[in-house]
Amino acid sequence: MPQKILIVEDEPRLADLLASYASQAGLEPHCLNNGLEVQLWVERERPDLILLDLMLPGKDGVTICREIRRTSEVPIIMVTARVEEIDRLLGLELGADDYICKPFSPREVIARVKAVLRRASPQQRPSSVELVLDQERYKASLNHHDLELTAVEFQLLTLLASKPGRIYSRDQVMDQIYPDQRVVSDRTIDSHIKKLRKKIARVLPEVELVHSVYSVGYKYEAYQAAEKP
Ligand code: CA
Repeated sequence: MPQKILIVEDEPRLADLLASYASQAGLEPHCLNNGLEVQLWVERERPDLILLDLMLPGKDGVTICREIRRTSEVPIIMVTARVEEIDRLLGLELGADDYICKPFSPREVIARVKAVLRRASPQQRPSSVELVLDQERYKASLNHHDLELTAVEFQLLTLLASKPGRIYSRDQVMDQIYPDQRVVSDRTIDSHIKKLRKKIARVLPEVELVHSVYSVGYKYEAYQAAEKP
């Protein structure tokens, strides 16, 4: 059975374009152009994923996302017109699974849709991840292997792993890791993340735990290392 994708988009040409790419990718797309119709449709049709535009007639994407999250864990990808907006959205903790900024290539959108679907499917979730964080000794172990993290890497992992699935923006990460307001660049955090991922991969190459989200943030979630889209 093809997976059902709800595309909520009020620009008809964009909605058609996404729908046609989704069909070609073997998905079953449905389009809605008004925010007011979404909640009912989702309850009735139970889509496998929602591609949700932020600015919509009737009801905006933020409100819709909040309402859906009260009753459903269906994967949601938020679509915004401005990249700066993503930081604000992350701060709202909507529980969206990914963020995409317009203009986008439909091909990239479908690749992300598939990546989120892959993560969401239960058989892809490895159950064999046991992460232990010893806050007193700053020691982290994964499936009983010491990760040998630096203090910053340990703090990063502690923060992200405290709420699996939650996306933290770079600013949020920096505030937590450097509470003394030391000025660090985005690149510094990125390079710590990169090293952290490398150390995790050394222990569990088949699992990805620390993820970059649309280059604005990070999250911790265990899933099978994905094939490249
Ligand atoms: Ca719109």
